[in-house]
Amino acid sequence: TGTILRIDGLRTYFHGDESVVKAVDGVSLDVPRGRTMCVVGESGCGKSITARSVLGLIDPPGRIEGGHLWWHPDPEAPAVDLAGLDPRGDAIRQVRGGQIGMVFQEPMASLSPMYTIGDQLVQAIRLHRAVTPAEARELAIAQLRRVGIPQPERRFDAYSFQLSGGMCQRVMIAIALSCDPALLIADEPTTALDVTTQARILDLIAQLQEETGMSVMFITHDLGVVAEIADDVTVMYLGTAAEQGSVTDIFDRPRHPYTQALLASVPTLGQARKERLAAIAGMVPSPENRPVGCPFHTRCPSVMPGLCDVTAPAVRPLGDRHAAACHLLDPGLQRPPVTAPPAA
Ligand code: SF4
Ligand code: MG
Repeated sequence: TGTILRIDGLRTYFHGDESVVKAVDGVSLDVPRGRTMCVVGESGCGKSITARSVLGLIDPPGRIEGGHLWWHPDPEAPAVDLAGLDPRGDAIRQVRGGQIGMVFQEPMASLSPMYTIGDQLVQAIRLHRAVTPAEARELAIAQLRRVGIPQPERRFDAYSFQLSGGMCQRVMIAIALSCDPALLIADEPTTALDVTTQARILDLIAQLQEETGMSVMFITHDLGVVAEIADDVTVMYLGTAAEQGSVTDIFDRPRHPYTQALLASVPTLGQARKERLAAIAGMVPSPENRPVGCPFHTRCPSVMPGLCDVTAPAVRPLGDRHAAACHLLDPGLQRPPVTAPPAA
């Protein structure tokens, strides 16, 4: 089946007057074909910037500085490097919304209050298909029905402000799917919704993924959502990928100290809900002031001074799709000598 999107060493930086924010700094991850890859991490870890880089939606002063975005929708054809396309050119626009659909966190803000939801869906359909207005209307109504909107003939003429957040997100999903995308990128699509609506939208995305066989890259900060929807998981930390693997690899045999800390910070599934532990000590360093060496060394309980704060760990394969970037996983690890603290 292979990989539909291989992000390889992506670096996306934002240039200020006096500083450079390295929002994404060497992230590598694979989105397997026909599966759901969840990208999880704390806010500010570069998840959204990674997704926006793939979509060509990085605005100045932001810029892709390095790495590759190997886009491979057709296994028979060679992959295309999206990082090499002009972000304002036609080629990326054909991929975005043509081959890759997208859904974001704020469905209300993504829909125009000036047009009915039907008109917006018709517009998206006619962008990708040569159909008459009447045919587009029929397709739009079918699409609204498919995403679970009741009485779609009536809702066709509604405006976004007349619908609930959950219904608006269903409309956004219908628009995203109007081009039959090979990949759907969903960035926190349920974060703004209440818990019940969130569960319904997750079910809908899972159901559509199964029906269409599309690949899904799902960005979230919520491990409960990951447990619900993921086949595969990438754990991001400070603009890099700490660990990647199947959902079983990540939940049952996490190897990176950050993944282990992240899992320890949420109540175990099935266990009585306990008081949430502040398990990860310390603050996330600012991407303006990235630590040298391993990005996690300022908070890592297993940090090896003299190694982790000097050299960045390489990504090590641990199994089929499982990989992590930590010096502890280096089979030839030489622990640096523990130096005595300087005399007072
Ligand atoms: Fe911790 Fe060192 Fe591994 Fe980084 S490389 S996660 S600091 S042990
Ligand atoms: Mg985000």
